[in-house]
Amino acid sequence: MTDVIVVGAGFAGLSAARELTKRGHEVLVLEGRDRVGGRSLTATLAGVPVDLGATFVGPTQDAVIALAAELGCATVPTHSRGKNLIRWHGKVRSYRSTIPKLSLIELLDVSRIQWRFDRLSRLIPVTDTWDAPAAQRLDQKSLEGWLRAVHAGASTRNLMAIMARVTWGCEPDDVSMLHAVRYVKAAGGLGRMLDVKGGAQQDRFPDGTQQIAQRIAAELGERVRTEAAVRRIARTGAGFTVESARGEHTAAAVVLAIAPAHRGAITFDPPLPEGYQALPAHWPQGNLSKAYAAYEKPFWRAGGCSGEALSDEGPIFITFDVSPSDDGPGILLGFADARTFDDLAPEARRERALACFTTLFGDAAAEPVDYLDHCWSAEPFAPGGPTAAVPPGAWVAHGRQLRAPVDGIFWAGTETADQWTGFLDGAVRSGQRAAAEVAAYLRS
Ligand SMILES: Cc1cc2nc3c(=O)[nH]c(=O)nc-3n(C[C@H](O)[C@H](O)[C@H](O)COP(=O)(O)OP(=O)(O)OC[C@H]3O[C@@H](n4cnc5c(N)ncnc54)[C@H](O)[C@@H]3O)c2cc1C
Repeated sequence: MTDVIVVGAGFAGLSAARELTKRGHEVLVLEGRDRVGGRSLTATLAGVPVDLGATFVGPTQDAVIALAAELGCATVPTHSRGKNLIRWHGKVRSYRSTIPKLSLIELLDVSRIQWRFDRLSRLIPVTDTWDAPAAQRLDQKSLEGWLRAVHAGASTRNLMAIMARVTWGCEPDDVSMLHAVRYVKAAGGLGRMLDVKGGAQQDRFPDGTQQIAQRIAAELGERVRTEAAVRRIARTGAGFTVESARGEHTAAAVVLAIAPAHRGAITFDPPLPEGYQALPAHWPQGNLSKAYAAYEKPFWRAGGCSGEALSDEGPIFITFDVSPSDDGPGILLGFADARTFDDLAPEARRERALACFTTLFGDAAAEPVDYLDHCWSAEPFAPGGPTAAVPPGAWVAHGRQLRAPVDGIFWAGTETADQWTGFLDGAVRSGQRAAAEVAAYLRS
């Protein structure tokens, strides 16, 4: 019998467990995978740590930055010196800011839509979003439906599609306009969310993000059990019996620190109230993949390029330079569109990714010394990511059940955060918030 069982050893679950332990509670963390970190997973490419999931952090992501600093995990600035590239309508051009070089009319249209988007965000609170007078109207529309309603031009719609793919792992048609507006507001605006300098891509961890989770797990020691997928949670008198792949455990309270879609794989006895049961099916995970290629040197730097690129043709639609230094190895990170990437055979994925790198950065990109990719949709357990791709209607119908506790059952996970939801920072904040809720519950 322990005080609290935390389900999930991602940044949310581990932050909740760390906070509860600090407050003097006995905790057990049950993780279904054979590792901690969840959507943070660090691998090695050409001897360099690379993140297959979460990579970047930036200003105002204070919770994850403070946690990393406490654990001794240093960041470095993301390389951004030089020209950015854009492949648009079959041509590769260079530009120097977040918004690519388009025609004057296209640029004006992008600014107009950005202004309208920001103005809408003033109408939507990040807390109790469903109660806002404009909520119903915005939740009925998809992002694409809204863009068409305000007559956004083709280039603006293409740019917003790129944003949807990298942010939610879905197309603009698949995401509720209410979700889009709330999500961007929780990140501090479009600029803050999309920029490198001053934005969410400003810094990265040279040793990877997963080390943060691993260090928390090391602190928690035997309190963390991996390969312990939770299948059933039964209320028993004053507490709960939790059945996992590693046996039965009992606790006074439970924190579920997993993505909303994955809640559906757990049987609750007695069943959760109706709205809670319906939520997982209406908050699906998006799908995003990553491809990395390593070269002896970051050769694009010598040609004056930053390594950052955008493309309206996939499967690679955004790139970054995550090389350790000018001396090499040079490492290109490409975000891949899961729809045209994940079903390919491994050799075909490599070929397609390298073809995209070559179109952007030249023939030298065709011959990497090492290559690696990762498809989150193909994960055998708890698949999908980066975050929930919340479809039209789902916020107003199910938002209330996202994190309201159910008598001893508490909810964490980045999707439940009001600030930087969808990011590592939101995950940490959600874990800390859930820990405070549980502590108050246990006191009462
Ligand atoms: C490709 C990609 C790129 C990203 N890039 C960034 C970035 O640059 N910056 C950033 O801040 N964020 C980024 N993110 C998002 C970030 O990874 C997530 O917001 C964050 O990791 C979510 O943490 P979490 O703890 O809420 O959930 P998770 O990390 O998903 O943790 C939940 C854990 O619960 C486990 N679990 C699920 N069901 C059960 C069960 N029944 N029993 C036991 N365990 C269970 C899962 O295995 C998982 O380990 C990215 C994500 C992806 C996929």
